[in-house]
Amino acid sequence: MRRTRLVAGNWKMHGSRASNQALLDALLAEIGVPAGAECAVCPPFPYLQQVSERLRGTPIAWGAQNVSEHAQGAHTGEVSAAMLREFGCRYVIVGHSERRQLYGEGDAQVAAKFAAARGAGLTPILCVGETLQEREAGRTEEVVARQLDEVLKKASFEDAVLAYEPVWAIGTGRTATPQQAQEVHAFLRKRVSNATRILYGGSVKAQSAAAIFAMPDVDGGLIGGASLAATEFLAIVKAGGQ
Ligand code: PEP
Repeated sequence: MRRTRLVAGNWKMHGSRASNQALLDALLAEIGVPAGAECAVCPPFPYLQQVSERLRGTPIAWGAQNVSEHAQGAHTGEVSAAMLREFGCRYVIVGHSERRQLYGEGDAQVAAKFAAARGAGLTPILCVGETLQEREAGRTEEVVARQLDEVLKKASFEDAVLAYEPVWAIGTGRTATPQQAQEVHAFLRKRVSNATRILYGGSVKAQSAAAIFAMPDVDGGLIGGASLAATEFLAIVKAGGQ
């Protein structure tokens, strides 16, 4: 089954009004219509207004990097799913390993965030992935299954997006081989629908994208560092369209 690939950029905590403007201008100058693969960028919260104004009516969608599991109330520093909708977000990344590792988000909280995003009409991009220690202990499948199953207990996946992001490959320059990615994607595929897009994330660059995207269960990428350089990101989007 041919699923439309998605290439989503996770800008993490990078950017400024000026650099965002330059990056978006460069992307829009070159992006094809249709771009081949669907394409989205996820800037930090304060730039959602700027990004939404620039991207409305273009082939590039946008989303956020995190969302509160709560609808509203006394949750200082948090941002609700309904607020993200007001800024035109289509996507929201949920359960990124940096949120899990640096901010203590556990499986239950990630599942609650996923449900809150769904409830507001956003498309969550749920990240799952094992650490190096877990991989070396042969626990990859157990870990990603646990992370995904906690979400499936709480909400239906429907057209949400899954992202396999081995923690040892994120921001390290060390990419999973296409075969390693395919093995885990095929395992995850059995738990979701055949129509679900499963992205790979972890140090994907223009030169490695095509080989990874060629795997039958890899439906695009979640791109960190390489999404901040227009030429690099555009080449990855182009690889997604082939
Ligand atoms: C990410 O942050 O989701 C990611 C995949 O980062 P990088 O591409 O920089 O490894």
